[in-house]
Order: sequence, then structure tokens, then C-alpha cells
Amino acid sequence: MYYFPLDQSNAAPVLSFVIPVFNEEGSLRKLDQALRAELEDLGLSYEIVFVNDGSHDDTAAILDELSENDERINVIHFRRNFGKAAGLDAGFQSARGRVVITMDADLQDDPAEIRSMLEKLDEGYDLVSGWKTVRHDPLDKTLPSKVFNWVVSRVSGLKLHDFNCGFKAYRREALANIRLYGELHRFVPVLVHWNGFRVAEKTVQHHPRQFGKSKFGAERFLKGLFDLMTVTLTTKFRGRPLHFFGYPAIAIGCLGAIGLVYLFTLSILGLDDLRPRPMLYAAMVAILTSVQLLGIGLLGELIKSFNRSEHTDYTIAPSRTVFAPAILDKTNTPASEPPLDNKDARRTFTR
Ligand code: UDP
Ligand code: MG
Repeated sequence: MYYFPLDQSNAAPVLSFVIPVFNEEGSLRKLDQALRAELEDLGLSYEIVFVNDGSHDDTAAILDELSENDERINVIHFRRNFGKAAGLDAGFQSARGRVVITMDADLQDDPAEIRSMLEKLDEGYDLVSGWKTVRHDPLDKTLPSKVFNWVVSRVSGLKLHDFNCGFKAYRREALANIRLYGELHRFVPVLVHWNGFRVAEKTVQHHPRQFGKSKFGAERFLKGLFDLMTVTLTTKFRGRPLHFFGYPAIAIGCLGAIGLVYLFTLSILGLDDLRPRPMLYAAMVAILTSVQLLGIGLLGELIKSFNRSEHTDYTIAPSRTVFAPAILDKTNTPASEPPLDNKDARRTFTR
């Protein structure tokens, strides 16, 4: 059992790769080879942190084998599938490099782009985000994605074409206050931008998926809308939540007041007897309820954002092979019992 941050006696590498993996058994060895070849060429020290996000194919065994054979490769095994954002979060917490590079594990991102992303960082940026100009994905992904990028650009004030690209390079400072959960991985450029860092975009090659299948479908866009509200509230309006709620409240309130004055006038003048249909009440109650539920949800997110650094939503297995050590097998007793509180448990690291 190891604990991260990893052994501090080793000098921190220049590059840390953080790669979330969910059922990608077909791609991993090829990815390892491709990365290895490219990094050899680049000549910079590096580490790779694979986060196995509760895969149920051969991913865990392959990652353990890769890490066994190369001490620069580390693996974090989640106890179940917690999602890509949680995977990135765990990787960010353990990465030690001056530059952190995230990539997808499915070979859709091309390691040959690493050099040009670093060159772009060297122009003075803190985050270089990939832009898949030619995407090899089906239309039901690319089209909603266009709408998503347009809306997020408008709302956030950060003009990017491809917020959700898995291929990104960060100076480590840019990640200091970033904690990801739920589906927030699509908003990292926005979070970094609102923390005052410089964000740039760099076109990247994108390849069709060769193995396995995509884990995300069209349903992600409603979640994306919720997340956009969360991100706006918890960054831009973090210190002044009433400004977030206040404007829509006044706008809706004014509309209501105008409506009432109008109806009241009609009734005084005897032009209308104000006997509305039951459906009018039902519709009004439904709208009121939905606005309140949204507001409560957003307050929940705000509260969560304030103690996010203390709690993580994911659990990490100390080691793939010791998910549940046998109680009666005396030879299998760990030297010391792992600590029970979540904060320490999440520091448990496998190699
Ligand atoms: N992924 C993950 N957890 C999940 C879903 C996906 O770690 O719950 C990983 C996946 O293995 C891949 C990356 O996130 O490395 C991007 O996923 P995918 O290729 O399915 O997304 P797409 O390219 O279709 O947007
Ligand atoms: Mg993919």
C-alpha cells in the first residue's frame, strides 16, 4: 500500500499525465506505447497517473501490469465507477509535475500533439485546451456539442470552440483551487479562466475510436445545462449569491406585478370577473415549484462548493487485489489497519 503524494525523495517530474480510464482494455497497451515513443522523443521527465474508474473489463489488470513494469506509471483504482470528473480530480490531487496533461484513454487523442501544446503553454498561457477541428464522432454527439460550446462561450465570456476536449495541458498553479465532481470536467477551462488564469486553444488531431465504445451520449446536455448554472453560481457569484438569484427574481416579480395590476384594473372596471380555470392555478403552482426546486439545488451546490476540498465523492481501493482481504486468513493481515476517515482513505494510492 502506498500513499500519495508519491515518494517525495524523487524529484518531481516536469510532466504529469492524468488519464481517466473506464473499460478501455483494447486501447491501453497501444496508448502506453504511443506515449512512451513520443515522450522519449521529447526528452522531458514524466509520470503517468491512470485512474481506473471502476472498470469491469481487463483494464485493472493491464494497468497494474504497466505500472509494475515502469515506476513512472501509477494507478489509482476507484471502488466503483464515479465518472470522468472524479477520475480527473483524483489524478490532479496526486500529480506532481510542473505541467499536468490530461488525455482520454481511447486513443482518440494523438500524443504527437504534446509538443505543440507545450509550445503554446510557453507562449505564456496557463491552460492550453485542445480543439478537435475535424471530429471523428457521430452527428448526435457533434451537433449538441456545437450548441453546448456556443452557450458556454456566451455565458462564461471565454471563447472556446471545444470546452469538453479531453486533451489539455495545464501549468500546475492553474489547478490549485480546482476540485471536480459530477460532470464538471466539461467546465475546467471556465473554472480556470474565472480564477484569473490565461486560457488558450490549440487545434488537435482527433482519431476515430478503435476499441470499446463511447461512455457518453446525448443525455449529457441537460446535465451540462445544470452544470453551467452551478459553475456560474460557484465561481462568478460565489461571494455574492444574491446577485445570481436577484436579477431573475426581480424580472419574474415585475412580470407578476404587471399581470396583477392589469387584472385588478379589469376587475374594477367590470370587464372581467376573474374566475380563472383550475388549470391556471395548477400551472402557476408547477412553475413556482420548479423555480424553487432549482433554487434549492443551486444552494446545495453553493454549500458543497465551500467545503469541497474536505470531502470527495469517490472512494479509492488500497490495491486492486486487496479490495476485500479475507478475515480468517491470518497470512493476509495487513501490517496496519487503514485509517477510516475519508480524508485519509482518499490518499490511499496503489502501485
Ligand atoms: N471515462 C471515465 N469514466 C467514465 C466515462 C469515461 O474515466 O465514467 C473515460 C474514458 O475511459 C475515456 C475518457 O473518459 O478515457 C473519455 O470518454 P469517452 O471516450 O467515452 O468520451 P467521448 O470521447 O465519447 O466524449
Ligand atoms: Mg472518446
